[in-house]
Amino acid sequence: VGDDAALVEPGHGAVLLTTDLLVEGVHFELSMAPRDLGYKALVANISDVAAMAGSPRYALVSTVLSEAVGPPWVIELYGGMLEACKEHACAIVGGDLSRGREVVVSVTITGEVSHRDVVSRTGARPGDRIVVTGWLGGAAGGLALGRAGDDVVRRAAGTDWERELSLALDRPVARVGEGQTLAQCGATAMMDVSDGLALDLTRLCAASSVGARVRLDDVPVHPALRHLAGMLPGHDPLELALSGGEDYELLATIPEDRVTEAMELLNGRYGTRLHGIGEVAATQEVVAVGADGAERPLEPKGWDHFA
Ligand SMILES: [Mg+2]
Repeated sequence: VGDDAALVEPGHGAVLLTTDLLVEGVHFELSMAPRDLGYKALVANISDVAAMAGSPRYALVSTVLSEAVGPPWVIELYGGMLEACKEHACAIVGGDLSRGREVVVSVTITGEVSHRDVVSRTGARPGDRIVVTGWLGGAAGGLALGRAGDDVVRRAAGTDWERELSLALDRPVARVGEGQTLAQCGATAMMDVSDGLALDLTRLCAASSVGARVRLDDVPVHPALRHLAGMLPGHDPLELALSGGEDYELLATIPEDRVTEAMELLNGRYGTRLHGIGEVAATQEVVAVGADGAERPLEPKGWDHFA
């Protein structure tokens, strides 16, 4: 930092490039703690590198600031970014700053990956198992809780489940080691779940020209969501797990005979649960199978930036 451009030494494999834009009023509100916002802005990008089985390396950070924020807010924002960078041995090597009516945070990250390990969305084959890391719907639950009335917020305050859902929303985990381990276990396709399982799985299947059968009973619904549903009618845990965004878990397809190995390695190395949720099908349809065996199309609902 300090020269006209960052000068970096390329690694030995391929370079991954990804960028993400967070706009006030669209992706976040200023009521969010700036430290969480900074952390999350980095994690969203690091997660995209993880989804290709890479490791994050350098970050460029550009920010538009409004009159509503002052120096302490900006220091906290960068503090959160540095936290995420430190966790993943990633360095901020440059960026830009300007003034505007709304706050905008733009992060670009480079990552490195070996040609042997890199996993795209296009390699899923009929018969592969569909797996997903961690739990789904937690971030959507945290968002719903944040928008709930004072009464619900007061009753939830201080409970373990409230804390879990808030953490899922504000402090998502980028599954970098998990992505590399899944690649080593023969993952044929992979992506991160940023816009909801139903929508992202539909995208993965389209990229691989395959279909999928998902058993709804096996979808890893975040355990804290049942407490939320008890207080906020209309918030179905399964629905939040299928169509809620921003969980940043990894969705992958792997050969059937490598699934047990992948589950054991993820649990042993990272304490991360890997859940099998269904199979890749030769048809082009993405189908949800209910507990009673009834099948219906899995509607690709999720976070649509232009809805
Ligand atoms: Mg992604």
